[in-house]
Amino acid sequence: MSQQDFNATRRRFFGQVAAAGVGVAAGVALTSQSFAQGALPELGETEPTAAALGYKADTTKVDGAKYPNHKPEQVCANCNLIQGKDGDALRPCAIFPGKAVQANGWCAAYVPKKA
Ligand code: SF4
Repeated sequence: MSQQDFNATRRRFFGQVAAAGVGVAAGVALTSQSFAQGALPELGETEPTAAALGYKADTTKVDGAKYPNHKPEQVCANCNLIQGKDGDALRPCAIFPGKAVQANGWCAAYVPKKA
């Protein structure tokens, strides 16, 4: 490999590392900003994954005939898959990345929090 080839390869390598670093930094900044501002968009009941899991923003609206295991006291706020801060009305959920669910909502993936 000539000195010229080596220099060109080195420039390409460092260019790619710099570009990747900028991408990662931008992603981290966006994610942090989203959580810091609670800016996740609210999950819609008709979104395909939400509909498939019978998500309702209000647990009292769950179709008991379709989901006989549902109990009125089951809400996102006491589900083991909820994330974010206790007391917030809208919170992230492990099942619906990038979206926020209602604390009083429910879906068929509900898992009770362990005491
Ligand atoms: S998994 Fe739990 S927190 Fe997420 S939407 Fe379903 S019931 Fe709510």
